[in-house]
Amino acid sequence: MYKKTLRILVIEDHNFQRKAVVHMLHSLSVEEVWQANNGKQALEMIRAEQSRPLDIVMCDLDMPEMDGMEFLRHLAQEQPGVSTIILSGMDGALITSVEKMAHSYGLHLLGAVEKPLSLEQLEMLLGLHQENKLALAAPRYPSALTPKRSDFTLQEIQQAVEAKNIQPFLQPKISLLTGQIIGAEALARWIHPQYGVIPPDAFIPLLERSDNMEGLTFLMLESTAKACLLLRKQGYDLDISVNISVSSLRDTSLAERITRVVLNTGLEPKHIILEVTESAAMSSVAEALENLARLRMRGFGLSIDDYGTGFSSMQQLTRVPFTELKIDKSFISDSANNSSSRVVVESSIQMAQKLKVKSVAEGVESRSEWDMLQGMSCDVAQGYFIAKPMDVESFITYCKRYSPLSARHADA
Ligand code: C2E
Ligand code: CA
Ligand code: CA
Repeated sequence: MYKKTLRILVIEDHNFQRKAVVHMLHSLSVEEVWQANNGKQALEMIRAEQSRPLDIVMCDLDMPEMDGMEFLRHLAQEQPGVSTIILSGMDGALITSVEKMAHSYGLHLLGAVEKPLSLEQLEMLLGLHQENKLALAAPRYPSALTPKRSDFTLQEIQQAVEAKNIQPFLQPKISLLTGQIIGAEALARWIHPQYGVIPPDAFIPLLERSDNMEGLTFLMLESTAKACLLLRKQGYDLDISVNISVSSLRDTSLAERITRVVLNTGLEPKHIILEVTESAAMSSVAEALENLARLRMRGFGLSIDDYGTGFSSMQQLTRVPFTELKIDKSFISDSANNSSSRVVVESSIQMAQKLKVKSVAEGVESRSEWDMLQGMSCDVAQGYFIAKPMDVESFITYCKRYSPLSARHADA
C-alpha cells in the first residue's frame, strides 16, 4: 500500500536499463517515478522540486558527464538523509567503497546492487525504506509534551528511582590507537512520561544535597552491569564506567555493597570502571580511601574524573589506586584557542603514561580535537564527535554498525 505514495527518481544513462527499472517500479505499484539520463539533469529536477522531496533515489555509478560518486555528493547536500539505492555493473570492492562514501556523506543507503536488478531485490529494498521510515517516525521515548522542567521535588525524583524510570544511557569510548570501541560511560537519564528524556542536572544535584544518592547509584550500577553483560555475551569486549558520587564514599560498607550488586548480575567487577571526581576523592578522608582500595582489590577499575578541575590532583594520584585518568572536557574544548589548556592536556597524558594508567579525554567534539589527542598519544576519546549518549538498545545497534565507521576515525 505504501508503495503507491512513494516518489522515486531513477538515474541511468542507459535507456533500456532505465526503462526496465521504471517498469519494475510500476509493476510494484509505485505511481510517481521520475527519470533522468545523468546526474546533472537529476540535480536540476531535485532543485526545481525542493518543496516535494523524494523518497528514494536510485542511481547508476558509471555515467558520462557527472558520475554517480559526484552526484551522490551533491545529492547529500540537496536532500540529506534521503534513501538511496546504488545500481552498478562494477565489481563488489568498488561498490563497497562507494557504499562507505555514501554513508559518510550522510545519505541513507538502502543497498548497492549489481545490475541487472531483479524484481525481488527491488521489492526488498523498498521494504527497507518503509521499515526505516517507520523506525524514524515512532519516537522511542515520549517527547516532551510541555516545556522542560528542572524544578522536580525530591519526592518526584525518588519515586522515579523507585520505579526504575531512570536508566543508563551509554556514550562510547574509543581507542585513539585502534579506532575500536573499547567501552562506554553510563550516564543517568530519567525517562519521564510527560517531559521526555531528562538529563541528570535536573535530578542529581537535589539527590546530592539531600544525601539521597544511594538509590540512584545502585540502580545505575545494576542496570549498567546487566547491559555490560548483555553486550559481552554478544561478543563485544567492553568495560563500562559508572559515576560514583562523592558523598557515598563516606560509608565504609559501600565497597562490599557495590561488589555484591555487580556480582549478583553475573558480571565480573573488572568490567566496571568507577568514575570518582577528584574533589570527591580528595575531601575524602580515610573512609573514602578504604572504599576505593577495597573496590580496586575486588577488581573494579577506578577513574579519576574531571581531572584538572579539583585542588590537589597530584596528591590524589599518589594515594588512590587509580587505573584511569579522565581529563576534564573544559581543557579539551579550550585547547584549540588556548595554548595553556593544550599544555594541561598534554602533560596530563604524559603523567598518565608515567603512572601507567590509561588517559581518557572527554568532551571530544571535533575532528581537530581528535587529531590533537592522537598526536599527543592519548589512549581513549569520548565525546559528541564520536556519539552522544544513547539508550542501551541503540548502543547495541551502534556497536553492530560501528566497524565501517571506525575507519573514519582510525585513518587519521
Ligand atoms: P560527567 O561525569 O563529567 O559526564 C560527562 C558529561 O559530558 C555528560 O553529561 C555527557 O553527556 C557530556 N558530554 C559527553 N560528550 C560531550 C561533548 O562532546 N561535549 C559536551 N559539551 N558534553 C559532552 P550529562 O550526561 O548531562 O551528565 C552530567 C554529569 O552528571 C556527569 O558529568 C556526572 O557528573 C553526573 N552524572 C550523570 N550520571 C550520573 C550517575 O549515574 N551518578 C552520578 N553520581 N553522577 C552522574
Ligand atoms: Ca564521568
Ligand atoms: Ca567531566
